[in-house]
Amino acid sequence: MYLWKDVMEMSKSLPLHEVILNLEMFDTGEAPQVLRKKLSEMLEVILEEAKNQYGKTQKTLTGFTGDNAFKLKNYKAKFLSEFNYIATVTALSIAESNASMGRIVACPTAGSSGVIPGVFYALYEIFSPSFEELLNSFIVAGGIGKVIADKATISGAAGGCQAEIGTAAAMGAGALTYYFSKDSEKVGNAAALVLKSVMGLVCDPVGGFVEVPCVKRNGNLVNIAISSAEMALSGIKSLIPFDEVVNAMRRVGSQLPQSLRETGEGGVANTPTAKTLIANLNFLI
Ligand code: SF4
Repeated sequence: MYLWKDVMEMSKSLPLHEVILNLEMFDTGEAPQVLRKKLSEMLEVILEEAKNQYGKTQKTLTGFTGDNAFKLKNYKAKFLSEFNYIATVTALSIAESNASMGRIVACPTAGSSGVIPGVFYALYEIFSPSFEELLNSFIVAGGIGKVIADKATISGAAGGCQAEIGTAAAMGAGALTYYFSKDSEKVGNAAALVLKSVMGLVCDPVGGFVEVPCVKRNGNLVNIAISSAEMALSGIKSLIPFDEVVNAMRRVGSQLPQSLRETGEGGVANTPTAKTLIANLNFLI
């Protein structure tokens, strides 16, 4: 277990991704090169599936989702940059792949599994990085996720969607910021900016299925990851340090009522339309 302020201190004498691997070695007992190999295998799957599923239709369990990535892929974006557009199509594609039992890397969870592929596939497509450069940023994303998991939670059932999709976007923002700055303070700022923007976000899957609102949250939150990284890279700081934001997130998560923590009883899950959709699902009869 470590704090981001300790990570920042250590990164004065060692690259941030190496600091994170070393700290992970103390937790897991696994050598940095073994951890790096494991993470490189995960990143390979992420990039492979992003390419394979990009903009495809998927047959999901309920049919509530499955054609969102396809629609966006076949539409000419009016507002998103090419980077944001690729990231958004990818995030929707992987979230819909998850809803159709496809191959995903739960990063940090299955429900939020579209954001990191969105960030990394857009980096890969637009900036043509080496795999090693991408991997270093992926390790940093893992370090951000680890701080949140240790000090708060990455579970929607325990802390609401802020803990799932918020963590995924904080990891993505940190990864993007590291790719361009190699600056641990800016990485922490990017992650904090994300979490402050989604503080209190509830977990309210319709019928308990990880489809609505989950899939489109992946598409939206990948853009918060990108804008937060852009702000942090410009020198904008989070006045509240990342470690303190994580503590606040933990407290907010524990104050959420049970109905807003993955029970499918509150939020958009408790709307007339949601109830009608669930009542009409044939396989539940
Ligand atoms: S709404 Fe709940 S189930 Fe859906 S992504 Fe968020 S935390 Fe996961």
